[in-house]
Amino acid sequence: MPRSPIETRVQPLKLIKRRKKILGLGIITLVMILSLVWQASYTGWFSSEQELKVWIFDVGQGDAIFIETPEGKQILVDAGAGGTILTKLGEVMLPWDRTIDAVVVTHPHADHEGGLPEVLRRYNVGTIYETGVLGYNDLQETVEELVFEKGIETVMVTDKLPPPTLGEGLGVGVLAPDTNLQNKKIDNLNNSSIVLLLTYGETSILLTGDAAFEEEPEILNDIIEPIDVLKIAHHGSVTSTSREFLETVAPRYAIISVGAENDYGHPHPATLERLKTQNIEMFRTDLDGDILITSTGGEPTVESRPLPF
Ligand SMILES: [Zn+2]
Repeated sequence: MPRSPIETRVQPLKLIKRRKKILGLGIITLVMILSLVWQASYTGWFSSEQELKVWIFDVGQGDAIFIETPEGKQILVDAGAGGTILTKLGEVMLPWDRTIDAVVVTHPHADHEGGLPEVLRRYNVGTIYETGVLGYNDLQETVEELVFEKGIETVMVTDKLPPPTLGEGLGVGVLAPDTNLQNKKIDNLNNSSIVLLLTYGETSILLTGDAAFEEEPEILNDIIEPIDVLKIAHHGSVTSTSREFLETVAPRYAIISVGAENDYGHPHPATLERLKTQNIEMFRTDLDGDILITSTGGEPTVESRPLPF
């Protein structure tokens, strides 16, 4: 039967629309694949090298540090203030990876622990390391409830804690606090900060939380040789990172995790001056974005590696 003129006109139009749709979907898929390939090479998802990677995320005013060991263990040290941490983790972790081996809460301040509830909701966390010191907000309660609900193992930290096994040549030591702070109240929570020394071959990285002058002697007691990379304490505050501390730690690189135009005046010009006097190469998350430290066991590399989001 001959087709009506209308039918013959309509058919090709439908075909054109379908082709356009397929083309559109094709372009979207291609863009997605290209961006995944780019992300994989940018963040080193499939890097075959036995490499230690430490990301100091740019989470605004706060701290969030993500460690990936050469054997693939993942440790998060603090989670920043809000939801930014989820975006960052999504960018450096494989899309199907929903597990983080350990989370360290240096101290219960919102700019370090605030993002933790979201992390606990979205990821399966193996163990939480904290001091158990009493905080002044209901954040701890929210975290405790989630920890209980999900049955997450919690370890209370002092520097007597035997270092966990992380892999060949890799160590993480607790340098402070020296005393058990569980259920204790202290005047300045910053001085309850868990301070970690991460070592891999010749590489050493010191993560100081928000430790102020008062906590520095506890840290210095355990420092035997110069450190390669120092995460500056308390966002570059003037009450941390004394001259004596810097002289003993003698880092090659310093990283300040700090929000742009924050209300606290961090980092303080005096702290910056102390770093400058000692010719320490400095990185800042407010100026350099996300910072990546890598090491294959020799000298570490520190670079600004801003993630897209
Ligand atoms: Zn802080």
